[in-house]
Amino acid sequence: MKDQIENLRRQALASLAEAKTVPELEGLRVKILGKKGELTGILRGISKLSPQERPEVGELANQVRDSINEALSLRMKELKDFALARELEAEKVDITLPGRPFSAGSRHPLQQVLDRIREIFIAMGYQVMEGPEIETDYYNFEALNVPADHPARDMQDTFFLPGGRLLRSQTSPVQVRTMEKQLPPVRIIAPGAVYRCDADITHSPMFHQVEGLLVDRGVTFADLKGTLEHFLHQLFGKKRGVRFRPSFFPFTEPSAEVDISCLICGGEGCRVCKGTGWLEILGSGMVHPKVLEKVNYPADVGGFAFGMGVERIAMLLYGISDIRLFFENDLRFLRQFQEGSRC
Ligand SMILES: [Zn+2]
Repeated sequence: MKDQIENLRRQALASLAEAKTVPELEGLRVKILGKKGELTGILRGISKLSPQERPEVGELANQVRDSINEALSLRMKELKDFALARELEAEKVDITLPGRPFSAGSRHPLQQVLDRIREIFIAMGYQVMEGPEIETDYYNFEALNVPADHPARDMQDTFFLPGGRLLRSQTSPVQVRTMEKQLPPVRIIAPGAVYRCDADITHSPMFHQVEGLLVDRGVTFADLKGTLEHFLHQLFGKKRGVRFRPSFFPFTEPSAEVDISCLICGGEGCRVCKGTGWLEILGSGMVHPKVLEKVNYPADVGGFAFGMGVERIAMLLYGISDIRLFFENDLRFLRQFQEGSRC
């Protein structure tokens, strides 16, 4: 019987040392020391021994049980420590690693130009007004002195929508909508997207305009000139030459195109200004009396209106030759206009 106990001790200690996991170890404990375990079985046999043998065998059995118990708890601690170490390793955070880079956005170059134009007019006391991009024929044409059979309709290739609606081809409808609601004095600018069926390197089917309107008593062409000269000097610099050329628009009379001296050649003549030394920037004029009549304004008020393309101004300011670059959203292009982090 002593040999049996010794054998059990050897085998038990060997298998405990080889146990790889906590559940495996637990299984071994039940197998050896449990109620139906191997050692328990042997101990039950002691009662069949002679009284002389019992103390010796009993003592040995107790020793073996103690040493197995000790080996068990030792191995249990080892396995738990190992499992914890592995878990910690897996969840390790290296606080010395650099942080993930955070890239800040920036205003689109068109928005920067638009905001600049807005600032200049707000400083002169203008209000910013907005209106719908889907318009009726009345607001886009009729109210602006362009009746159905008027040849001026051919000047703009309009996108027509079902039900007599259209995508506004200019922001002028905002002027009419404002005058319908507000008596003079009126002093507004209307920035926004407009649509025309036209696409090449200088035309986009969707582009942005800023139009302005001032209506009051005693407004003259000199007010128009002074306002636009001040605006252009603020935007392009005080040394820039400004000239007014007679032109035609159905909703103004008289009408004038406004040019500035070429930003590229300074007036000498180059490819951009087609050798003239001047760049066309604005359309303007005194509001046609028929437009003021349509909104029932008193006969003794008058005013001026003007309009400009934001893309064209941005192209000239930044020296961009293809309008499509503004809408392709190529980050290599847009990053050149990033504010505050120019390198
Ligand atoms: Zn030039």
